[in-house]
Amino acid sequence: MRELVEQLAKGQRLDTKSLSALLKQCTLDDSLLQFLRDYAVRTARQQFGLGIYIRGLIELSSYCRNDCLYCGLRRSNRSAERYRLTADEVLECCREGYKLGFRTFVMQGGEDGTHSDAWLEELICRIRSLYPDVAITLSLGERSEESYRRLKRAGANRYLLRHEAADEELYASLHPDSRGIKHRLSCIEALQRAEYQVGMGMMIGVKGQTIDHIAEDLLLVQKYDCQMVGIGPFLPHRATPLGEEPAGDLRLTLAAVAIARLLLPKALIPATTALATLTPRGRLEGILSGANVVMPNLSPSDVRAKYAIYENKASWGKEAAEGLAALESELETIGYHIDFSRGDYA
Ligand code: SAH
Repeated sequence: MRELVEQLAKGQRLDTKSLSALLKQCTLDDSLLQFLRDYAVRTARQQFGLGIYIRGLIELSSYCRNDCLYCGLRRSNRSAERYRLTADEVLECCREGYKLGFRTFVMQGGEDGTHSDAWLEELICRIRSLYPDVAITLSLGERSEESYRRLKRAGANRYLLRHEAADEELYASLHPDSRGIKHRLSCIEALQRAEYQVGMGMMIGVKGQTIDHIAEDLLLVQKYDCQMVGIGPFLPHRATPLGEEPAGDLRLTLAAVAIARLLLPKALIPATTALATLTPRGRLEGILSGANVVMPNLSPSDVRAKYAIYENKASWGKEAAEGLAALESELETIGYHIDFSRGDYA
């Protein structure tokens, strides 16, 4: 198995079967997992040194028209508390974030029908004119190609749209009455044509997902040669159909992050909030698997609990924008530091 890791590190292509065997073995053999993670960390250090980029996450809205089985914001969840930030509230988050040193704002949200192109366009233009030197990242789900282009012209730079599941059947089972993986990928292609820096990814351990599926997901991310890759464990939310399912496996998640790093050496890969929620050391373990980004929460404090895609989502302390000093001290324990630059894809 170690040869497979070495092949990956040399940039050789692996097929689904070998990648799947490697992932499987990593969950059984700690020394192999460590071997893989060490290669991933070396690769990340060659690209980024010991700096970790930060992104301020602003959660625009908890309204969503979709019904994704895993997500606490799904439209069928009657107990979800819904909110929607006003443009002025978003700008206040940006003001606060800029002062704290953030140079990327990520605006994420449910697919809220009231987020028209015109509304988003105006918001993006205002952010762009107030803060010409920041990167603006959007994560607002599936929109039309024309919409993606308009928002890009308004000043957005990056877009996160996890593909969620490369396997058609698995995708369909998790996303009832969605337009399917083919449509999801067509959105990703539209974003690439519009020249965004594009992020893909998936969660680990969601119901119905096998290790072969994860291998396929990783190869898909490689095939699309994307600039960002988000991988975190599935975490159950009580008020969803998957509420009784176990959370994703830590070691499998770390192995997947490490493989993503070797497949796409230059990619921006977050140590996800889900990983930090799964276990207190999650953020550090992610970085020690090749991740190079963290995304502290910059949403107004009174809405943070309401953006519950899963339960007990970390949004305070080191996961909070106000907690940068605590984050910096935590990073120092493993020899890393915050890199306050914009952190574009090179
Ligand atoms: N509506 C946007 C943003 C979704 S939230 C979109 O469709 O892209 C960002 C990511 O959180 C999702 O892509 C999903 O992979 C992840 N997520 C949602 N629910 C989750 C859960 N219960 N556990 C772990 N990750 C989850």
